[in-house]
Amino acid sequence: MVTVSHKTIKEMRARNAEYVHHRMQIPITDEQYLFWDNILTNYYDEAITLYQDLLAQTNYKSRNRCYDPGILQGKLTLKIGDKRIYAHRFTYVVRVSLPLSSQQVIRHQCANERCLNAAHIELGVQAQNFQDLLSARAYGVRWELLPKSAFETIR
Ligand SMILES: [Zn+2]
Repeated sequence: MVTVSHKTIKEMRARNAEYVHHRMQIPITDEQYLFWDNILTNYYDEAITLYQDLLAQTNYKSRNRCYDPGILQGKLTLKIGDKRIYAHRFTYVVRVSLPLSSQQVIRHQCANERCLNAAHIELGVQAQNFQDLLSARAYGVRWELLPKSAFETIR
Protein backbone atom coordinates (compact mmCIF):
# COMPACT_ATOMS: atom_id res chain seq x y z
CA MET A 1 0.00 0.00 0.00
CA VAL A 2 1.32 3.40 -1.00
CA THR A 3 0.46 6.25 1.35
CA VAL A 4 0.68 9.72 -0.14
CA SER A 5 2.67 11.97 2.21
CA HIS A 6 1.52 15.43 3.32
CA LYS A 7 4.60 16.83 1.63
CA THR A 8 3.56 15.26 -1.68
CA ILE A 9 -0.02 16.56 -1.35
CA LYS A 10 1.35 20.05 -0.63
CA GLU A 11 3.58 19.81 -3.69
CA MET A 12 0.63 18.64 -5.80
CA ARG A 13 -1.61 21.48 -4.57
CA ALA A 14 1.07 24.09 -5.25
CA ARG A 15 1.56 22.73 -8.74
CA ASN A 16 -2.20 22.64 -9.33
CA ALA A 17 -2.53 26.27 -8.21
CA GLU A 18 0.08 27.19 -10.85
CA TYR A 19 -1.81 25.21 -13.45
CA VAL A 20 -5.14 26.87 -12.67
CA HIS A 21 -3.45 30.26 -12.78
CA HIS A 22 -1.64 29.75 -16.07
CA ARG A 23 -3.88 27.30 -17.88
CA MET A 24 -4.29 27.74 -21.57
CA GLN A 25 -6.97 30.23 -22.45
CA ILE A 26 -6.80 29.61 -26.18
CA PRO A 27 -9.61 27.61 -27.77
CA ILE A 28 -8.92 23.90 -27.33
CA THR A 29 -11.22 21.38 -28.91
CA ASP A 30 -9.66 18.09 -27.85
CA GLU A 31 -12.39 16.50 -25.78
CA GLN A 32 -10.03 14.55 -23.55
CA TYR A 33 -7.87 17.60 -22.84
CA LEU A 34 -10.99 19.50 -21.77
CA PHE A 35 -12.08 16.59 -19.56
CA TRP A 36 -8.79 16.67 -17.64
CA ASP A 37 -8.70 20.45 -17.58
CA ASN A 38 -12.14 20.44 -15.91
CA ILE A 39 -10.95 18.01 -13.24
CA LEU A 40 -7.76 19.97 -12.54
CA THR A 41 -9.61 23.27 -12.44
CA ASN A 42 -12.91 22.44 -10.76
CA TYR A 43 -12.58 19.09 -9.00
CA TYR A 44 -9.02 18.95 -7.70
CA ASP A 45 -9.97 18.20 -4.07
CA GLU A 46 -12.04 15.20 -5.17
CA ALA A 47 -9.24 14.17 -7.53
CA ILE A 48 -6.67 14.15 -4.71
CA THR A 49 -8.95 11.97 -2.59
CA LEU A 50 -9.36 9.51 -5.46
CA TYR A 51 -5.60 9.63 -6.11
CA GLN A 52 -4.94 8.68 -2.48
CA ASP A 53 -7.55 5.89 -2.63
CA LEU A 54 -5.99 4.46 -5.79
CA LEU A 55 -2.47 4.52 -4.40
CA ALA A 56 -3.69 2.93 -1.17
CA GLN A 57 -4.76 -0.05 -3.28
CA THR A 58 -1.30 -0.54 -4.74
CA ASN A 59 1.66 -2.57 -3.61
CA TYR A 60 4.94 -0.76 -3.35
CA LYS A 61 7.83 -2.63 -4.82
CA SER A 62 10.91 -1.26 -3.10
CA ARG A 63 13.15 -3.02 -5.61
CA ASN A 64 11.95 -0.87 -8.49
CA ARG A 65 9.66 1.76 -6.86
CA CYS A 66 6.65 0.65 -8.92
CA TYR A 67 3.15 1.23 -7.52
CA ASP A 68 1.51 -1.95 -8.69
CA PRO A 69 -2.28 -2.41 -8.39
CA GLY A 70 -1.64 -6.13 -8.13
CA ILE A 71 -4.34 -7.14 -10.57
CA LEU A 72 -3.48 -10.15 -12.62
CA GLN A 73 -4.44 -9.05 -16.08
CA GLY A 74 -4.98 -5.86 -17.99
CA LYS A 75 -4.84 -2.33 -16.69
CA LEU A 76 -6.72 -0.83 -13.77
CA THR A 77 -9.58 1.41 -14.89
CA LEU A 78 -11.97 3.69 -13.09
CA LYS A 79 -15.19 5.43 -13.94
CA ILE A 80 -15.64 9.18 -13.76
CA GLY A 81 -19.11 10.28 -14.81
CA ASP A 82 -19.86 8.18 -17.87
CA LYS A 83 -16.20 7.87 -18.90
CA ARG A 84 -14.07 4.82 -18.18
CA ILE A 85 -10.42 5.77 -17.96
CA TYR A 86 -7.12 4.13 -17.22
CA ALA A 87 -6.02 4.58 -13.62
CA HIS A 88 -2.44 5.35 -14.69
CA ARG A 89 -3.65 8.24 -16.87
CA PHE A 90 -5.66 9.59 -13.96
CA THR A 91 -2.84 9.35 -11.42
CA TYR A 92 -0.37 10.95 -13.85
CA VAL A 93 -2.62 13.92 -14.69
CA VAL A 94 -3.50 14.54 -11.03
CA ARG A 95 0.08 14.10 -9.79
CA VAL A 96 1.63 16.61 -12.17
CA SER A 97 -1.43 18.78 -13.06
CA LEU A 98 -1.06 18.37 -16.77
CA PRO A 99 -4.06 17.54 -18.96
CA LEU A 100 -3.54 14.87 -21.61
CA SER A 101 -4.93 15.10 -25.10
CA SER A 102 -6.33 12.11 -26.93
CA GLN A 103 -3.13 11.98 -29.03
CA GLN A 104 -0.83 11.56 -26.03
CA VAL A 105 0.01 8.11 -24.80
CA ILE A 106 1.49 7.13 -21.49
CA ARG A 107 4.86 5.46 -21.84
CA HIS A 108 5.73 3.34 -18.85
CA GLN A 109 9.51 3.54 -18.53
CA CYS A 110 9.36 0.68 -16.00
CA ALA A 111 7.70 -1.57 -18.62
CA ASN A 112 4.89 -2.30 -16.12
CA GLU A 113 1.75 -1.07 -17.85
CA ARG A 114 -0.20 -1.20 -14.58
CA CYS A 115 2.22 0.93 -12.57
CA LEU A 116 0.73 4.12 -11.04
CA ASN A 117 4.03 5.77 -10.10
CA ALA A 118 4.01 9.01 -12.10
CA ALA A 119 7.81 9.15 -11.93
CA HIS A 120 7.88 6.05 -14.15
CA ILE A 121 5.87 7.68 -16.89
CA GLU A 122 6.80 9.66 -19.94
CA LEU A 123 4.40 11.10 -22.44
CA GLY A 124 4.64 10.44 -26.11
CA VAL A 125 2.96 9.04 -29.16
CA GLN A 126 2.02 5.48 -30.03
CA ALA A 127 5.15 4.86 -32.11
CA GLN A 128 7.39 5.69 -29.13
CA ASN A 129 5.29 3.47 -26.91
CA PHE A 130 5.90 0.56 -29.25
CA GLN A 131 9.60 1.38 -29.42
CA ASP A 132 9.73 1.31 -25.59
CA LEU A 133 8.19 -2.15 -25.58
CA LEU A 134 10.72 -3.47 -28.08
CA SER A 135 13.70 -1.98 -26.26
CA ALA A 136 12.49 -3.20 -22.84
CA ARG A 137 12.23 -6.69 -24.32
CA ALA A 138 15.64 -6.50 -25.90
CA TYR A 139 17.61 -4.74 -23.14
CA GLY A 140 15.38 -4.80 -20.05
CA VAL A 141 14.56 -1.76 -17.94
CA ARG A 142 17.41 0.51 -16.89
CA TRP A 143 16.08 1.24 -13.42
CA GLU A 144 18.97 3.53 -12.51
CA LEU A 145 17.88 5.94 -15.24
CA LEU A 146 14.28 6.34 -14.06
CA PRO A 147 13.51 9.66 -12.37
CA LYS A 148 12.92 9.79 -8.62
CA SER A 149 10.38 12.58 -8.91
CA ALA A 150 7.25 12.82 -11.05
CA PHE A 151 8.10 16.36 -12.17
CA GLU A 152 11.33 15.16 -13.77
CA THR A 153 9.18 13.38 -16.34
CA ILE A 154 8.10 16.68 -17.88
CA ARG A 155 10.59 18.12 -20.31
ZN1 LIG B 1 6.76 1.54 -12.36
